[in-house]
Amino acid sequence: TPPSGAARPRLTFLGTGYLGATYAICFAELGYEVLGFDVDKAKIAMLSEGQVPFHEPGLDELLRKNLASGKLRFSTSYEEVADFGDVHFICVGTPQRADGMAADLSYVESAVTNLAPHLKRKALIVGKSTVPVGTAEWIEQLVRRHAPADAGVEVAWSPEFLQEGFAVEDVLRPNRIIVGVRSEWANAMLYAAHKGVFDLAMTEDREVPVVVTDFATAELVKVAANAFLATKISFINAMAEVCEAAGADVTLLARAIGYDPRIGNKFLRAGVGFGGGCLPKDIRAFQARAQELGAGEALRFLHEVDLINQRRRQRVVQLAAELLERPYGPAGPDLSGVRVAVLGATFKPNSDDVRDSPALSIVRKLARSGAQVNVYDPEGMENAKREVGDVSYTKALTEAVAGADLVCVLTEWEEFRNADPQALGELVAGRKVIDGRNCLDPVVWTAAGWEYRGMGRPVFS
Ligand code: NAD
Repeated sequence: TPPSGAARPRLTFLGTGYLGATYAICFAELGYEVLGFDVDKAKIAMLSEGQVPFHEPGLDELLRKNLASGKLRFSTSYEEVADFGDVHFICVGTPQRADGMAADLSYVESAVTNLAPHLKRKALIVGKSTVPVGTAEWIEQLVRRHAPADAGVEVAWSPEFLQEGFAVEDVLRPNRIIVGVRSEWANAMLYAAHKGVFDLAMTEDREVPVVVTDFATAELVKVAANAFLATKISFINAMAEVCEAAGADVTLLARAIGYDPRIGNKFLRAGVGFGGGCLPKDIRAFQARAQELGAGEALRFLHEVDLINQRRRQRVVQLAAELLERPYGPAGPDLSGVRVAVLGATFKPNSDDVRDSPALSIVRKLARSGAQVNVYDPEGMENAKREVGDVSYTKALTEAVAGADLVCVLTEWEEFRNADPQALGELVAGRKVIDGRNCLDPVVWTAAGWEYRGMGRPVFS
């Protein structure tokens, strides 16, 4: 049974990035008293003033509402977090290490070792960040070493599956909750900490499946899910390569195989591949960890998944050379003097996240080939400018394409999918378009006089 007051335990979220801020805000919305914590003072100041530091549909409104109700606060004090919370969720970053493929756990370590000494009463530390299997056990050791012995602090693991762009919905209405625990008490506390999610589901006549398991399985669920998703994308992108060689159309191929419910049509879109702050680093860290465990051979295919993904980025440059009739040598094409409009900088639409974005990686390649690149993205411009400084950015789609010899659509924002090829055609110097996301209708664009190239699609005329 949950301890007294645990019907509504007080929750803290350490790390208020895409994951932690969304959680803090949504769990306040579900009725919990919540404290968000970050070492980044500027981020905490913004959140405290009602500003979400990143773009996520629907989140601003919920932030302001729950700040006003007093359910939600933010802090930069570990002491305050320890005093306030019954359940502490670790949501800090776990990026790829600069010196290899493995995950950098230094932020996790710092969050736990700085919090633990202040924990004066029984509390639960729950890992949500994506980590190598074995991390929960290591955190348990850190807690044993750093928390007061008589406090009885426990550890649990509950990986996270939210998708940027749908994060509010994914947190309020998750398709499953995974719980890695070592005691009945931890299980009961985690149940209490998610009761708001279950109550909401009940009022909507839905069920939220829960899998209660051990630490290692809970940790592996997350990386296994990401490995599967990355593999599915690279599978269809490998088919795109074959379609290009054979003159076939991968979009129809995907539709046709996707009707088989064992395959399914989701995540089966060929394009410039996956990116973002999760999939690329997660499949690399997973390989590194499997190697350490002596199971490296089992994940060798993920290396290939990564390579297929990288090749798609280069394919856009190859298509650019083809369309612009420039020779493509071993060092790539010479695109000097060419004006390219790049539409999209974020790794996916409805987000401002440019971490390992295929669009920006292609922008770099085009610029390196000598092209003069104009980038436009509805939400990601500020982040993109910080990543790639030496290309030009425009404030509007029409400005980006004005005078362009080639237009590349690299993120499938609605604004681009709905763009009028006739109107854009009036602005460009040459009607040539690369549809890196297969999100435009080639028939309509070709009818408007554009030379169209998709990914894994034949030449339309
Ligand atoms: P992020 O970079 O947006 O946020 C991480 C935050 O942690 C930053 O604000 C940083 O200042 C803060 N931080 C660093 N050290 C800290 C410390 N010692 N104490 C408190 N805060 C600290 O990253 P994110 O996208 O939110 O991802 C966080 C974790 O969640 C990662 O492990 C990621 O793989 C995982 N994840 C992310 C998503 C997603 O869609 N973004 C989905 C599922 C899982």
